Amino acid sequence: MAAQETVEHKYVYDFAEGNKDLKDLLGGKGANLAEMTNLGLPVPPGFTITTEACQAYLGTGTEPAGLADQITAHLTALEREMGRRLGDPDDPLLVSVRSGAKFSMPGMMETVLNVGLNDRSVEGLARQAGGSTDQPASGGSTDQAASGGADRFAWDSYRRLIQMFGKTVCDVPGEEFEHALDEAKRAKGTDLDLDLDADDLRGLVDAYKKIFTKHTGREFPQEPREQLDLAVRAVFDSWNAERAVVYRRQERIPADLGTAVNVVAMVFGNRGPDSGTGVAFTRDPASGAQGIYGDYLANAQGEDVVAGIRNTVPLQELERIDKDSYDELLDYMARLERHYRDLCDIEFTIERGKLWMLQTRVGKRTAAAAFVIAGQLVDEGLIDLDEALHRVNGGQLAQLMFPRFQLDHDFQPVATGIGASPGAAVGKVVFTSARAVELAAEGEAVILVRRETNPDDLNGMIAARGILTSRGGKTSHAAVVARGMGKTCVSGADELDIDVPKRRFVVAGRTVTEGDVVSIDGTTGKVYLGEVPVSPSEVVRYFEGELDPASTDDALVKAVHRIMSHADASRRLAVRTNADTAADAARARRFGAEGIGLCRTEHMFLGDRRELVERLILARDPAEREEALAALLPLQRADFVEILREMNGLPVTVRLIDPPLHEFLPPLEQLAVNVAVAQERGEDVAKEEALLAAVRRMHEENPMLGLRGVRLGLVIPGLFAMQVRAITEAAVECTRQGVPACPEIMVPLVGAVQELETVRAEAERIIAEVVGGSDVDVLIGTMIEVPRAALTAGQIAEAAEFFSFGTNDLTQMGWGFSRDDVEGAFFWRYLELGIFGISPFESIDADGIGRLVRIAAEEGRAARPGLKLGVCGEHGGDPDSVHFFHSVGLDYVSCSPFRVPVARLEAGRAAIVTTGSDSR
Ligand code: PEP
Ligand code: MG
Repeated sequence: MAAQETVEHKYVYDFAEGNKDLKDLLGGKGANLAEMTNLGLPVPPGFTITTEACQAYLGTGTEPAGLADQITAHLTALEREMGRRLGDPDDPLLVSVRSGAKFSMPGMMETVLNVGLNDRSVEGLARQAGGSTDQPASGGSTDQAASGGADRFAWDSYRRLIQMFGKTVCDVPGEEFEHALDEAKRAKGTDLDLDLDADDLRGLVDAYKKIFTKHTGREFPQEPREQLDLAVRAVFDSWNAERAVVYRRQERIPADLGTAVNVVAMVFGNRGPDSGTGVAFTRDPASGAQGIYGDYLANAQGEDVVAGIRNTVPLQELERIDKDSYDELLDYMARLERHYRDLCDIEFTIERGKLWMLQTRVGKRTAAAAFVIAGQLVDEGLIDLDEALHRVNGGQLAQLMFPRFQLDHDFQPVATGIGASPGAAVGKVVFTSARAVELAAEGEAVILVRRETNPDDLNGMIAARGILTSRGGKTSHAAVVARGMGKTCVSGADELDIDVPKRRFVVAGRTVTEGDVVSIDGTTGKVYLGEVPVSPSEVVRYFEGELDPASTDDALVKAVHRIMSHADASRRLAVRTNADTAADAARARRFGAEGIGLCRTEHMFLGDRRELVERLILARDPAEREEALAALLPLQRADFVEILREMNGLPVTVRLIDPPLHEFLPPLEQLAVNVAVAQERGEDVAKEEALLAAVRRMHEENPMLGLRGVRLGLVIPGLFAMQVRAITEAAVECTRQGVPACPEIMVPLVGAVQELETVRAEAERIIAEVVGGSDVDVLIGTMIEVPRAALTAGQIAEAAEFFSFGTNDLTQMGWGFSRDDVEGAFFWRYLELGIFGISPFESIDADGIGRLVRIAAEEGRAARPGLKLGVCGEHGGDPDSVHFFHSVGLDYVSCSPFRVPVARLEAGRAAIVTTGSDSR
């Protein structure tokens, strides 16, 4: 039998073997280190252990076969390149072991530095580090202490290793190390780590080792390779640490990706005044402005920057401190930007005058910077307009459309929580839902402050301008519900010490009591005391036509205009709006709407028309009903004339009345009490009693599943007919006046073709009668919002000239979720458990409800080629859903006026195909 040759799976890649496109395998950090290595930039040598190795380890609990040998081979090559061996007692090579997943998960996973130090190699490191660093550094006592000699440096590195290794690899409680460090400083009579000398640190290493042994029952491992293997394993394990799991859920990062592990030769920025560490951005990540942005800290390691032990200086200062390194860095920054064709952020270290590049990646940026930079890169010829469009998104555009705080004054935040729902809200602090409702009823703007909210707070949340909590993240009850309401929310501002019974909170040493004014920024999560002035969005002013992109020098407005124009030129989906007043229609047109996809007619039955509607509902005989309908007809006609006029020939889809009629009558309980009281007093209550009887008759346990939509039209004679007549007469009137009109009549809640056929037959008769010889065309179509309609779309299409997907009801009925209740009641828990990543009412559930849409679109078009297809549920303005509707082949999406620009942008993005990096 022939021997089978097995090719060993490759789990380890030298930096020279990878590239930036291998993020799935090497993680973001590893892929970019490889890319920089291949560009010839000075990256400390190292190798990456793949995400596949991590996945295999997490799946089985043991390292996959072959991994240990591959690490040995790469380590040997690394040692050869560096001319040092890991942990060599005379001249040790030290390595860092760092996590690096495909998507950045800042601070969520583990890192171990200085691997390779032990009782003997620490002496070797001290000897090798001797020389120039023994001299005191210039620049004050702190720097002198920091350099403090090679011994100090070596022993400090060793104690950091034991601390990090103990904590991350062996779960030793971090506070014990902190406590021992505090003890050492107390004994020395100082507050500063840097005042500890080599002897103090040697003592601290002994103390740390004892702590390690006490908790692990073993000595601190002296074998460098064992240190390395255990550190790699700890990084693998950290993928499933609780905080990482929570973060992934929030950021919707798949749980099965695993992390790569980067093993890199250590370089030290804390070897004296000719060393240091810093971060740099190739453009301003806040505004997008071109220039050099970053911070530098001389004589320090990266973790010191994070710990804020000393203040950094602006990167430009490096020119004075070390001009050669500065020039070299600028050269690399320019090269990286050209190479990545994007804003890059960079971490670097200078060790004794030699610059090392430790990390680069396409940098995170604000929404404004995303647009500005995309525009600049087009000007610079680095990317084309398709790529620019690809690099921004609707979420960013929506952020830019909220009003902003004017922070040019003297406002400092007193706390920072999580920006849970964007916007800028100012109001008086209240601590209970009841008080929020009370004050709001008096016309006050209030901010509801709670430790966390629960469903009982719903009324208060509705009444408040904004919601501020001290607990909870982006998926907390407060965050989810506020986003659903489009209300500003800052959650998890844990600096706030809230005392509800005393109606106050304490923050930054100040006490804020009920009635004091605070300002909260739902984008940045910042909380301010007092009233911060709010300014309108420049981007909205541009959409409103108040700012001319050709003459303004606002870089953001110019960039938005340019990218929006390209989106419009690229998209296949039309964008309409949901509007039922002429004012909304006008605003939506300014925002770029190309028609009305949903004009809900129910609000037209409220206000002073309520009385007519009551007469209609309570009519004792056909004559009374006819009378009420006849009175409603001219009012409805006037409504439609106004809207058709505003849209001036663009399509206007008018939906016949949808909600149950009892919604137009007074609430049952209230009425019953009134009638009982009046009866008690012996008053004449005949009319009220009739009303009460009607409300009782119409009362439904599940009104959402009851007598509404087409069912109502089939039960109340003449109701739909009146609306059809009003719409058609309005169109004829507009046309006579020279205003083109393009009405489309839409029947709600159809589940069976027979329902539609019945309504259609009557509607066609009326339309023919009203239109007569005039040149008016009225289409008749249906909502697809009942699952049965989606599944019988082939039949329904025979009677419909268009479908409009009502994804609100389709989601409600498809999932069996009451759309009025569940988001506040339990969605926070579903989100926390990861049952879904986002509310299916917010973003289309492509697998389930989306499948119904797809089936209906396909079967509808098969039965009637050219059938017009749109969507008018809330999903029409949601970025991800817009991409889905594009992929299904709909003709248009329709959304609220404010979301029209977002839908235009996303429809453009959905239509272009590009291979560049996405805007995540
Ligand atoms: C829908 O159900 O998606 C829809 C647009 O109709 P409404 O929200 O008015 O029920
Ligand atoms: Mg509906």
